Amino acid sequence: MNQDMRTFPANRAVVLKNIRCVYCGEMLSGLNRTKDHVIGRRFVPKGKFNAQFNLIVNACRACNNKKADLEDDIAAITLAPDVTGRHSHDDLPAIEEARRRAENSISRRTRKPISQSRETVNLNGSLGPGINLKIAFTSPPQIELPRAFELARLQLMAFFYLQTYKTESQVGGYWLHGYHPVQMVRWEDWGNAVMRQLMTEINDWDFRFHCITADGFFKAMTRKHPTAETWVWALEWNRSHRLIGFFGERDPAQAIVDKCRMTRPVTIFEQPNQSLHYRVETPLSGDDDTLFDWTEKVAT
Ligand SMILES: [Zn+2]
Repeated sequence: MNQDMRTFPANRAVVLKNIRCVYCGEMLSGLNRTKDHVIGRRFVPKGKFNAQFNLIVNACRACNNKKADLEDDIAAITLAPDVTGRHSHDDLPAIEEARRRAENSISRRTRKPISQSRETVNLNGSLGPGINLKIAFTSPPQIELPRAFELARLQLMAFFYLQTYKTESQVGGYWLHGYHPVQMVRWEDWGNAVMRQLMTEINDWDFRFHCITADGFFKAMTRKHPTAETWVWALEWNRSHRLIGFFGERDPAQAIVDKCRMTRPVTIFEQPNQSLHYRVETPLSGDDDTLFDWTEKVAT
């Protein structure tokens, strides 16, 4: 077993008695101390935390409220189907709940319920004299990227805090240097060129944190660069969205990102002031999916 890897119970929550807020470091007392479920209880479908791992920490009221606000619409959107009504899974109670939640949560982007937050883009173009083109694209409800990466950052901070937590002093640690998110992708595109290249690049890195919980509706992992103070991280929310990035020293992360190139988009037309390109989404088959694979090599 890797010496930096601790084992936590898989069948219940771990509760920290930290005396400072995990997210901002503020000293906690009285009214300002709240309990935070790091994976929000309503972030995954109902009942998914029965006898499964979660992390409960103390946090200040402001950080707890900020995180709950991020979780609300992000949960509803990550539970929602694609534009054709497809889900990435066949968990019927979860699908039923997703429908209800889409009525009740407001998209921060459209200010409308998630169920009415599909986005349509209309494009009018011309392929030449007399050949006009009208195209409408519909996309599923979207999460604002900065909000998604902020929620990811808070979840990752709490897991890092857990790994570095000292019971005697009741405090945990924070990673140094920066936070470098790379990409968020819906399940239809988990096999895109960047995701595939990243999986290859990090394949030999040691796991530092690995968690699959809530019946697979929440996944998280971090792995450490072989020589640098750089970690790669990945999260999967509600079997639909994956987020990936790095924290720690930036240059080793940048070197890897520089090797990852999205495939070139297809061009429908390109004229001065008017162009239309699209990129085909690439699904990932189970056999090629190693992102959250716990390899025995690491555990020996
Ligand atoms: Zn705080």
